[in-house]
Amino acid sequence: MIRIERVAEPPDFAKVRSKRLAEARQVIAKGDKIEFKDYAAVKRELAEMQHLKCCYCEKREETAENRDVDHYRPKVPYGWLAWTWENLLFACIDCNRQFKRNQFPLSPGDIKLVSEQAPPGSERPLVIDPSARQINPSEEIKFRPEKVQGNQRWRPTGLTKRGLETIRVCGLDRPGLLNSYTDHVNREIRPKVDELLKSIKTGQPSALYKLWSRTKRQLLRPYRPFQALSLDALDHLVKPDIRTHHNLPLP
Ligand SMILES: [Zn+2]
Repeated sequence: MIRIERVAEPPDFAKVRSKRLAEARQVIAKGDKIEFKDYAAVKRELAEMQHLKCCYCEKREETAENRDVDHYRPKVPYGWLAWTWENLLFACIDCNRQFKRNQFPLSPGDIKLVSEQAPPGSERPLVIDPSARQINPSEEIKFRPEKVQGNQRWRPTGLTKRGLETIRVCGLDRPGLLNSYTDHVNREIRPKVDELLKSIKTGQPSALYKLWSRTKRQLLRPYRPFQALSLDALDHLVKPDIRTHHNLPLP
């Protein structure tokens, strides 16, 4: 998971919010169910803000139209935030529907927001909001290799309670993703690292620096999948002493 820089709310969305909330309040008064709709106006905007990647697992999702708008604070019970721009993210179907759903764990002793109350109140959520300014997801979740039946596999680990809960709630260690992470390291990162280590033995310092810059550009550009994993894998595979010795900085 990486930090998402939130862009400004699309101009027409305030109108959508007023209309939908007014309707929702009438529906609640009658004891009926709220219809959560009218997200077409923000779907493309959110997807582009996130470089077409799921906000939780960083899998690339090419067609925004078929994917979900994720409500950071779930529609149930936080219906009054269902059309609040800061509460909306773009997520893959697996993270959103199979795992996160209506889960929103809070820290022990927290008092849940009451209807119409603006967040955060006294809530200290245990799910990372990747678009929150004061949070850096990479300080809370790190990818590490582990050995499974003689093979190396990459897995996210929580460094904080919130990191651990985010992994659990969003299913960031589900088998399909563990395979994707490991494939990504083996196919995209290892060949570049092997080339780099070979060139340390044989090459010129300037050529080495160019190769390192190219590797970082290719793996860490915002629209590349699994950017957080790429950073942690580079950090692990090109050891800090080698990076310091050859002046190969990592962001
Ligand atoms: Zn996802």
